[in-house]
This record gives sequence, structure tokens and C-alpha cells, in this order.
Amino acid sequence: MAPAEQNLEMCGESIKNLKRTADTCEKNNVPYENNNTVIQNSKCEKLTTDNDFDLDKYEKMVFIPQIRWPDLIVQILLHLVSIYGLYLVISNQVRIYTTLFAIGTIYTSGFGITAGVHRLWSHRAYRARLPLRIILALLFTITGQRDIYTWALDHRVHHKYSETAADPHDIRRGFLFAHIGWLFLTPHPAVENRREALRNTSQDLLADPVVRLQKLFFIPMFAILNIALPIWIPWYFWRETLVNAFIVSFVTRFTITLNVAFCVNSFAHLCGNKPYDRFIKSVENSMVSLAALGEGWHNYHHVFPWDYRTSELGKLNISTNFIDMFAKIGWAYDLKAATNAMVISRAKRNGDGTFGHSEEPDPSPDFHCE
Ligand SMILES: [Zn+2]
Ligand SMILES: [Zn+2]
Repeated sequence: MAPAEQNLEMCGESIKNLKRTADTCEKNNVPYENNNTVIQNSKCEKLTTDNDFDLDKYEKMVFIPQIRWPDLIVQILLHLVSIYGLYLVISNQVRIYTTLFAIGTIYTSGFGITAGVHRLWSHRAYRARLPLRIILALLFTITGQRDIYTWALDHRVHHKYSETAADPHDIRRGFLFAHIGWLFLTPHPAVENRREALRNTSQDLLADPVVRLQKLFFIPMFAILNIALPIWIPWYFWRETLVNAFIVSFVTRFTITLNVAFCVNSFAHLCGNKPYDRFIKSVENSMVSLAALGEGWHNYHHVFPWDYRTSELGKLNISTNFIDMFAKIGWAYDLKAATNAMVISRAKRNGDGTFGHSEEPDPSPDFHCE
């Protein structure tokens, strides 16, 4: 057998083992800990620990990232065309239905990110029945933000290694890097190392057939749901020109959705207060929450990543309402949430003193907004 075939067979076997592991843990009701610790195997011992990972070594490493030109060119083109798209909208050169359709799609598909790939698949903050998982996977594909597996894996790395060299969008490298630079610069070796480690311990993702299928058919699904349908609908139903539909309903909508998600990595790690933990960089940012369907309460979220609400009750969080609505019909269940006592105790211990009036500007001395 050729070495390549041998490797493939070994990989196949290890995937089967990993799936068995996930099934056993599921049956034994062993919780997936994908936020701050790695997942456990069937004997409930850690499959991969951090023992083999020397973060200090990576922090001290001199690393000069290279520009990935194809990715940078794609981002530049998307943004330039989007600026033109916004001009077309403002100057009334597209039909109003096209603009409303683009805005509606941005908000609707956003639930695929917030309630889907983020709270459900990355954090396992609740469970969802098959019809809801399919809806969320389709909505997420409309946003065009890579496949569920890749997104969730990177997000787990972000939470587990926040503000270290292994954080894919480490905010310590500045606003621009966390917002968009990380997508067109070569990743730090620490990020690559931890992506590989978490790939081994995130078998629960591939145990979900919806995730597997969306990963397998991502390119045709992306072409249909993110490109073809958003262009075809305005053209067919209200006779928008194909060029306008391409510019506004595909490129501008796609780029705005990307930037809203990017804001969680940038603004929600920079501008705001820290009622629950002043020792981390993530903050509470109501503007990001408004745009990103409730994902801007990021200080809370980094403290309680397994809470399906990603914020306290009473905070504007449409994605929480979305999940609650599906919980009423039984499609969402096992909703995990922090108790008031847990929140108050954490805020008293580590908060910056703004707990209870968190919309106020952060008075802590280390507050800054670049
Ligand atoms: Zn974050
Ligand atoms: Zn998260």
C-alpha cells in the first residue's frame, strides 16, 4: 500500500475512533467542555492536554506574518465594490425592494452565526433538534463565512487562548489585525499548533451529520445560497438589473455581514466596560450588540461562554429571543444559563465596578478605545 493510502486509512480509523468517543461521552452524559478545557475521551480522560504546548516559547518567538495576497485582493475588491453599492443605494439607483431585501437577508442570516455556529456549535450552550440545525446551517451558509466546522474550531481556539499568541485574532495585535488582518495574514505558528490540537478534540462537531454535510457541500451551497439566489430573487421578482443585484444583494450584503461579525472580534474587545471581569480585554458594547443580534455583550460572554444568552437578562439580545422562541416548540432544549448568584459573585470579585449600570462608560483606569 502506498504511504499516502496508508495515511488515509489511518486518518479514517482515527476519525472512526473519535466518533466512537463522542458517542460514548454523549451516552454517558459527559458534558462537552469546548470553552475553557479540551473535550474528554470515552474514559473521560483528556485526549489532548496542554502539557505538550509551551505558550511561553511561542510568545517569545519572533514572528513576521506574510501577506496572503489572494485573500487580501478578495477583501479589497469586496470592500471597493461595497462602497459603490452603498453609493447606489444612497443615490436611489437601486429599487427599494432590493435594499430592503439585502437588509432583511443580513439580519435573518445573522441568526445562523449567532444562534447557530456560535452558541450552538462552538459553545454547545444549548441543543437543537434536526429541523432547527438544518435551518441554522442554511442561514449560516447564506452569510458565506466558511463552513461550520472551520468557524467553530477557530472560535474555540479564540476562547481557549484569548489574548495570547495562539488566539487567531489576538486583540493585542491591534484593532485592524483583530478586525480583518488575521484573514489575510499568515497565522502565528501558535495558532496553527492549537488549531491542530483542537481539531483532535472537537470531534463532537463532525459527529453532527448537519455539520459534516455542510462541510462536504460547502462550495456548491455557498454558490447557490450566498451568490446565485440573492442575485436571482431581486432580478426575478421585482425586475432589478442583474448588475445592481450582483453589487447590492450579493457583494454589499456579504461584505456588511462580514464586517458586523468582524466588529465582535475588534470593537467588542476594545470599546466598552467590563462589569464581570476587568482582567480580560473583551467588553460590553451595546452598538455591536445592536448590529450583531446581541453578540456585543462580550465581557459577559468570555466569562460565561457556555451561557446560551451571551448576556444577562434584560440586555438587548435578539438571538436569545430567537432561541427562546424555538425552545417553546421544543426544537431548542437543554438551554444552559448562569444563575444570578454566579453572575453577582463574579462581578463583585473581578468586575470593574460598572455591574448593574453597565451601559455607562468604563471608569476603570485601563480602559482605552483605539
Ligand atoms: Zn471574543
Ligand atoms: Zn464565543
